Amino acid sequence: MGADNKLAASTTANETGMWAETKDRIRQIGKTLKLDEGVVDVLLKPEREMTVRVTITGDDGKLHSYEGYRVQHSSVRGPYKGGIRYHPSVTIDETRALAALMSLKCATVNIPYGGAKGGLQCDPSKWSKRELQSATREYATLIAPIIGPMRDIPAPDVNTNSQIIAWMGDAVSTVSGNPSPATFTGKPIALWGSVGRDAATGNGVAVATQRYVEMQGKSLQGMTAAVQGFGKVGLYSALGLAERGAKIMVVSDVSGGLICKDGFDLQRLCDHARSQPGALLCDYHGSEAAHISNEELLAADVDILVPAAMEDQITGANAGQVRAKIVSEGANGPVSTEGDRILEQRGIAVIPDILANSGGVVVSYFEWVQNLQGMFWDGDEVNARLDTVMTRATKDIVTYAQANGVSLRSAAFAVSVNRIVEALLLRGTGH
Ligand code: NAD
Repeated sequence: MGADNKLAASTTANETGMWAETKDRIRQIGKTLKLDEGVVDVLLKPEREMTVRVTITGDDGKLHSYEGYRVQHSSVRGPYKGGIRYHPSVTIDETRALAALMSLKCATVNIPYGGAKGGLQCDPSKWSKRELQSATREYATLIAPIIGPMRDIPAPDVNTNSQIIAWMGDAVSTVSGNPSPATFTGKPIALWGSVGRDAATGNGVAVATQRYVEMQGKSLQGMTAAVQGFGKVGLYSALGLAERGAKIMVVSDVSGGLICKDGFDLQRLCDHARSQPGALLCDYHGSEAAHISNEELLAADVDILVPAAMEDQITGANAGQVRAKIVSEGANGPVSTEGDRILEQRGIAVIPDILANSGGVVVSYFEWVQNLQGMFWDGDEVNARLDTVMTRATKDIVTYAQANGVSLRSAAFAVSVNRIVEALLLRGTGH
């Protein structure tokens, strides 16, 4: 390996943020697993990166352009897989970090994919529907040469949804001249999507939590839980935990939190949340509930805390106040590195995001399988298969953590890196 290569692989003094943290964690795992420097270097560098410029004619008649990315981190274990997000804070480094985490997430749950991520630096809330469709079709056309059912399979992520994926699929089919449903997942049901995808991430959080609790010789029955964020992940995590016997005592969204010591009437709460787009919990007035702040939610006296809203919610500043015994990461990166250290010191188990919230990519994998075979499963089959994959993955990670005396997060990183490295070495190089 040349000196330049070594230099590029190391974090420079001023490199910060999610990509630097992700690389540091990969390096630490590389040391623990005594991996060759060259092998670690492969994990630190994405295989392919594409930067695109999306230009649209705005409703004001003027041209507007936006930078977008598709980063393909690893194809060692299969085609690249990962969502596409639209957000003003999207950067190439954030996209690299999220792509690497997708490689690890797919390996953690042992589905046959590598990892990728895409992003468009924009604020879609400022666009009309026509502008949104125009930018979406342009972005999809620009990345079309590097995606495909056996190459790279994108999906929705932050601020993207099944409608946006439907436009992307149509744009790519137009360019290639062939319909290609297996190129994207997270599609509408009417366009080869899978039933069960909406609830998949929350269901996966519930299964991983249930299996972890059972491996401690306990049961979810009668345990209490707080869920931060009542969107796609939080709502279905709450429903999934309640179905398995837990009592949901605290919930919150961006407008604040609600507490009910006897457990919520969840169906009523969910009906309220789904009553209209943007419905907020601050407008819920069930007699059983009292209003609290999000900070109070994080410090609630419950057995299980599910942060399912956004990143960096439990940090060095508030990890000391967490009273739950289990934190199940529904969101991506809700516990900061410092927060993680404090929770570990205090003996609080953290079921890491790359395991806990992987139900979404697992059902995306099922959607792809159904598309490739042209046969569709019903909801019971999707959920039963999700349970099987999540149960097996949770057992793998908990068993590794117990055998090696490490945290569940370190175990998930070690198991996934081991799987990627095994495949890398079996494939050989120079192909
Ligand atoms: P969403 O937009 O549907 O829901 C987010 C929820 O969080 C909303 O209820 C919002 O009001 C709430 N929220 C925002 N800021 C908050 C704050 N400061 N305090 C409390 N609540 C707040 O998003 P989602 O799809 O549920 O995603 C949530 C997280 O899960 C994100 O980190 C996302 O990357 C991650 N994730 C989502 C999926 C998926 O399948 N949707 C899969 C894996 C990971």
